This record gives sequence, structure tokens and C-alpha cells, in this order.
Amino acid sequence: MKIFRDISLSKYNTFDFDYRANCLILPKTEDEAISLFRGEISWEKPLLIMGSGSNILFTSDFKSTILCPEIGGIKIEEQDQENVLISAGAGVNWDNLVEWTVNKGFGGLENLSLIPGLVGATPVQNIGAYGVEVKDTIEKVRAVSIEDGSITEFNNNDCRFEYRNSIFKGEVKGKYLVTRVYYKLTVNPLLNLNYGSLKEEVNKLGSLTLKNVRRAVINIRRRKLPDPEVIGNAGSFFKNPVVSSSAAEIIKKSYPQMTAYEDQSWGIKLAAGWLIDQCGWKGKRIGDAGVHDKQALVLVNHGKATGKEIYDLSEAIKKSVREKFGVELEREVEVVGTI
Ligand SMILES: Cc1cc2nc3c(=O)[nH]c(=O)nc-3n(C[C@H](O)[C@H](O)[C@H](O)COP(=O)(O)OP(=O)(O)OC[C@H]3O[C@@H](n4cnc5c(N)ncnc54)[C@H](O)[C@@H]3O)c2cc1C
Repeated sequence: MKIFRDISLSKYNTFDFDYRANCLILPKTEDEAISLFRGEISWEKPLLIMGSGSNILFTSDFKSTILCPEIGGIKIEEQDQENVLISAGAGVNWDNLVEWTVNKGFGGLENLSLIPGLVGATPVQNIGAYGVEVKDTIEKVRAVSIEDGSITEFNNNDCRFEYRNSIFKGEVKGKYLVTRVYYKLTVNPLLNLNYGSLKEEVNKLGSLTLKNVRRAVINIRRRKLPDPEVIGNAGSFFKNPVVSSSAAEIIKKSYPQMTAYEDQSWGIKLAAGWLIDQCGWKGKRIGDAGVHDKQALVLVNHGKATGKEIYDLSEAIKKSVREKFGVELEREVEVVGTI
């Protein structure tokens, strides 16, 4: 297990901020993590668990311990004629896992291609894209208690998945380290091409295959979203707000072209990017903190922005949307540090 003291976090956040942490611990196995939580190695509290930091906005140095699991390994656990249960360690790169499943012909994760981050964060965030959420494939999540090193397995229901949310961001936040995630995939995949221009993009590539769905998703994402390797960002900064149908109707009267769709659970989901765009923010920048010019939902670091400057920009955007539409935006990105 690697342990670093007073380390730069620039490689551990996709905004590319050069904040520092007092201590960074990288356990390579579940047993190493357990020994840590049983007190065999001393570490300073509070503890921040992280993957690759692609959904975190640091606003200051982190004056304590960060833990990033490097637990690897992809396994086929069980397979029958219809389904296959696979598992992956929390430290596996998510897109490498998706590529592996597509190459094996296993269906279910292909629409989630190219989402940055590690496997351990996927149940925490309930990642989603192109009409698919990872909750639809998660069978169970293995996790270690930070308090005493004991192991718990959360089945799909226990995870209380919601839109970009789960029990790991709520009731048990900060109490468990996810070490391994089990995904139930299909052996004879049914492709899900209902979202936006996905079907059109797959048709351009030729036949309807898993590999072409993955390629199509990658092509669309590369056109629309900024690459964190080129310009610092954390993807969608805000969640799409869900409002009551009466509130949506009122906005629709003034803006008939508004993008809105029925949410599975409650009310009407509005496109946060559209709301932000209507407030005139697309492509704007305040110093080096900016709103991406192709996707208003993404805030970017043009070079030397600080976390606080990105945070202040997000507050200004929230205020505009509140004043113009009466809608409260919620950050998808987690803010860590002092403001
Ligand atoms: C360009 C870009 C595009 C993106 N597109 C999408 C998209 O289409 N859909 C989408 O859903 N997201 C998207 N995201 C957001 C991000 O990729 C996901 O939220 C991802 O799952 C975060 O993974 P991570 O490993 O970087 O987690 P981090 O950002 O490091 O952590 C996220 C949260 O998970 C917790 N966590 C991480 N690992 C563990 C663990 N092992 N145990 C317990 N808790 C843990 C952290 O404490 C934190 O609360 C995008 C981000 C970028 C930069």
C-alpha cells in the first residue's frame, strides 16, 4: 500500500487544481484497506474516499487523509444462457471495464462508455448516460466499514438508487469504502438506442452491434464534452432539476421550446443545460472560470482558476436560473474544502 505525505492533488482531480492533501493512501487490496480500518496503520481523521476525482470540486487544501483504492481485477463470477455476473475491483478504470464487457459480447454497460472515473464510484453516483443508469445492472456492492473493517454486501435494493444518488451519498456517506461491484449483464444483448441521436450515430457506423453502440457513444461524447486532459472540468456540474408538472407548465407557456421530459419517479425533468443557456451563460468566463461553449452544463478551468472561483461561478449561475425560472439547481459535483 502506498502512502504519500503532503502531496499535490493535481493528478487526483479532473479540474486540475494543484491543492495539497496532508496524506494520501492507496490500498491495493481489500485486506490492506481492512488493516487500515482496524487500526494497524495510523491515519488522521476525517477521511475522504475518492476514485479519480472526476466529480469533486476541491476549494482548498485537504488538511487530512484521502484514500483512493487501487483494488483491481475483473472476474466472471457466474454465467448461464441468458445472463452473466461479473465483478470488478473499485480501482478498475470504468471505461476499461466497459470496453472489456463489449469485447466479450456482454450487454448492459455499452451506453455508459467513456464516463471518466473508477468502478468504486459507479454505485455511489449511480452514473448514467444515453438513457441508461448503472443501477439497472448492479447486483450487489461489496464494501468495508471504515469504523471497524467489517465487510457488508449491499444488494441492489439496499443501495437505494436514485438519479445520481444512492445510500452511499446519503445515510452511510463516509462510512464505507466500496471495494468490489457486481454487475449482471446479458449474454444476448438488447440494444437501447432510444436516447437522442444515438440510433442515427450507430446507423452511420453500420450494423446494430454492441461495439458500434460503444463507438457511437464515444463519438457523440467526444464531439459534445470537453476532455479533462485538455481543459479541466468535472462533466455536468448540476443535476437536471425535477419540478412539478404545474411548475413546468408555467415555464413552458413563456418558453414553448423548453426541453423537458417526464421523470420516472416524480414530476418533470428539465434540462439544466438549457436553463443555464437561456440565462446567457454558455461560453462566458469570469477570469479562468468558465462555462463550456458547447455544453452550458459543464464548468471549465481555462488554466489558472481556483476551486473557489469555479464555486462562485456556480453560485452566480444558480442565482440567474432561480431569478429567471424560479428553479433551484442542485450541484452534481461534490464540493470539498473551505469556501
Ligand atoms: C468529462 C466528464 C464527463 C462525465 N460524464 C458523466 C456522465 O455522462 N454520467 C455520469 O453519471 N457522470 C459523468 N461524469 C462524472 C463522473 O465521471 C462520475 O461521477 C464518476 O462516477 C466519478 O468517478 P470517480 O472515480 O472520479 O469518483 P470521485 O469523483 O473521486 O468520487 C465521487 C464520489 O464517490 C465517492 N467514492 C468514490 N470511490 C469510492 C469508493 N470506492 N467507495 C466509497 N465512495 C467512493 C467519493 O467519496 C465521492 O463522493 C463526467 C465527468 C467528466 C469529467
